[in-house]
Amino acid sequence: MNGVLVSATLKLDRLFRQAFAAEDSSVELFSPEGVRDPAAIDFALAWRPPHGILKRYPNLKVVCSIAAGVDNILADPELPNVPVVRMVDPEQAETMALFVIWHVIWYQRRFDLYLEQQAKRVWQRQPQRSAGETTVGILGLGRMGAVAAERLAGLGYPVIGWARGPRELPGVEVVTGSEGLKTLLARADALVNLLPLTAETNGLLDADFFATMKPGAYLIQMGRGPHLVETDLLSAIDSGHLTGASLDVFEEEPLPPEHAFWAHPGVLVTPHCASDVTTGLVAAQTLAAARAAVSGRPIPNVVDKTAGY
Ligand code: NDP
Repeated sequence: MNGVLVSATLKLDRLFRQAFAAEDSSVELFSPEGVRDPAAIDFALAWRPPHGILKRYPNLKVVCSIAAGVDNILADPELPNVPVVRMVDPEQAETMALFVIWHVIWYQRRFDLYLEQQAKRVWQRQPQRSAGETTVGILGLGRMGAVAAERLAGLGYPVIGWARGPRELPGVEVVTGSEGLKTLLARADALVNLLPLTAETNGLLDADFFATMKPGAYLIQMGRGPHLVETDLLSAIDSGHLTGASLDVFEEEPLPPEHAFWAHPGVLVTPHCASDVTTGLVAAQTLAAARAAVSGRPIPNVVDKTAGY
């Protein structure tokens, strides 16, 4: 079986090659430049593939994202008509949940103020706020959001989650639709975005959205850069309506050095590092998908291209 590793931004070739070799030494993983016979390529492993590149392979049977999200692949207007698969990793979801919990506590216990105070050698206790007094709203109750919601509920936070369809999650109030979103935004002190990037969610976090949020609330943005209208967030923080934001994903990555977020006192920047899948898991799940596709069996973790996730 042959695959092509297509990535506009990542230089992970050597690591992926090692991971695939460890899984199955008979599999050949080419870079696009190294493919001599495009018709011999069975599967593609992709991250932000340049548009039009995947249609070069006439016998492609499946395209796998190296990540949980597939927006970067579905964005290709010339994407071949083959199944698109995402990575699903329970450990990644646990790592994400811990990352989210850390940011909730950062806001709840006002570590931003303690850091400022330390720089000025100021000894001043901030009012204590319990978990029970800090409502967390979570947008997206999928593999990532559901675990974060359940872990936070287990720690005593009131948790409200937003999904497209209703579901049961222990300790979590689930809302749906635009009315459900309004309810959530009006009540959440910390708001976590774990939505996939789709036509419906692109640009969702805009001025109207922030105006609906509870005064003093805090945004924890872990989804995808284009969910957020960055200038609208800055206005919402600068006006004092929001306390601030933790941002892991951005419209442009890496975040340009001149971007206002870097030096903004209300913004905490991390470099899209909330939680990754391991290269070993990517190799195993990609090969499972490719083998299923080649033999005509049902392929695990195929996304719904119409829904966009
Ligand atoms: P899933 O596909 O498992 O879940 C998506 C969730 O979003 C589902 O609950 C779905 O609702 C909900 N949803 C989708 N569209 C809407 C909508 N229009 N309105 C309301 N709810 C909606 O995705 P994952 O949990 O695996 O990942 C979510 C996203 O997290 C990824 O796409 C990626 O953007 C981001 N991510 C970021 C990482 C980082 O390091 N920063 C790492 C991993 C993921 P329903 O259940 O009803 O279908």
